[in-house]
Amino acid sequence: MTISPSCMDETDPSALTVEQALQRILERCEPVAGSDSVDLNDALDRILATTVTARLDVPPARNSAMDGYAFSGNEGRAGTRLRVAGVSAAGHPWDGTLKAGECVRILTGAVVPESADTVVMQERVTVRDDGITLDADCAPGSNVRHPGEDTRAGTEILSRGRRLTPADIGLLASQGIGEVRVVRRPRVVFFTTGDELAPLGQPLRHGQIHDSNRYTLRALLSRYPVEFVDFGVVADTEQAVREALVRAGETADLILTTGGVSVGDADFVTRLLQQEGEVGFWKVAMKPGRPLAFGRFGQALFLGLPGNPVSVMATFSLFARPALLRLCGTEPEAPWALRARLLEDLRKSPGRTDFQRGILERARGEWTVRSTGGQGSHQLRSMSLANAYIVLPSESRGATAGDEVDVIPFQSVF
Ligand code: AMP
Ligand code: MG
Repeated sequence: MTISPSCMDETDPSALTVEQALQRILERCEPVAGSDSVDLNDALDRILATTVTARLDVPPARNSAMDGYAFSGNEGRAGTRLRVAGVSAAGHPWDGTLKAGECVRILTGAVVPESADTVVMQERVTVRDDGITLDADCAPGSNVRHPGEDTRAGTEILSRGRRLTPADIGLLASQGIGEVRVVRRPRVVFFTTGDELAPLGQPLRHGQIHDSNRYTLRALLSRYPVEFVDFGVVADTEQAVREALVRAGETADLILTTGGVSVGDADFVTRLLQQEGEVGFWKVAMKPGRPLAFGRFGQALFLGLPGNPVSVMATFSLFARPALLRLCGTEPEAPWALRARLLEDLRKSPGRTDFQRGILERARGEWTVRSTGGQGSHQLRSMSLANAYIVLPSESRGATAGDEVDVIPFQSVF
């Protein structure tokens, strides 16, 4: 009789902690060499290969923060009457010179004439005939934006290794920079293994399941600046797995697989890597996702994720993601953690850190979290319903409704 792992003592002295496994992985990951020059419109989420220095003052000239009237600040007392001598609109500066007792009509973003230093909002004046009267005192210098107030020419604005955000794209555009040098996209070859896996769009025969992992992996990978190549489903034969690994190992920077990393009869990935690659097979003291393989095959790094769909996602988020980011040339950030009030009792066996799937919500001024229900590593719906991991420490036996627990929002790990 075989005993299912959940009935056994979960404590395995040879298992690595999540932190140890991650450290071993990151030690072996280095940013890929090479860079591309890309159009700014294609640069979102790419990693900067060089530090960018501002070449312009932004804004380049003094301009108005408001629609109103520009004048010399010593004329800003309530009741002062000023004649409107011209108009300065965005893109259409007024190039005259103000005389005493004069102002210009000015619109937001328009250049403030040199002879003015103050703008009064249009809501604070009374307009009559060809002039205005100030309704209240207006402090000298009000509502004027100065050159370089946003960015000064010569300042380093974005560092090498930065993963470009929408704000960064706008910042670069404000500098007139239309092309950026970014790190080459690492090439990731991925495949799934298993004779039970059937393609989509085909009825399942007895004993078959659809290959969900390959779709999950592609979806996960598409969020990173990597080039990915799908090698399909690889059969559970030594020859098929060898062929896939050899072919992948010739061109990939990283090979990512699912399944076949246990010690069952059909687990060829394990055996081949031991014989022909360079690899460590680890048990990681986490649930879901205990077995993990990491090493090299050919010229590529190799990361073999477990087969169960939830374990795939969990190990991807905790190990593959930081590895990918490092390969891409940017430093992975530690996942965000927050504390949330648990809404129900949760149980676990000591010996592994649990990453249970939870629904995190903000309710009545505090974060609360509840379970998605069934937590089996085959229950992919638990991932689909969840928006966060509930992290229960290795030694704990669970938590009680009302306890504060550690929670990792999915946004920070996927
Ligand atoms: P393995 O590690 O290959 O023994 O797989 C562990 C479990 O995950 C088995 O129940 C497999 O049927 C399942 N599994 C493996 N690969 C996939 C896949 N690509 N899609 C869905 N389930 C899978
Ligand atoms: Mg298998």
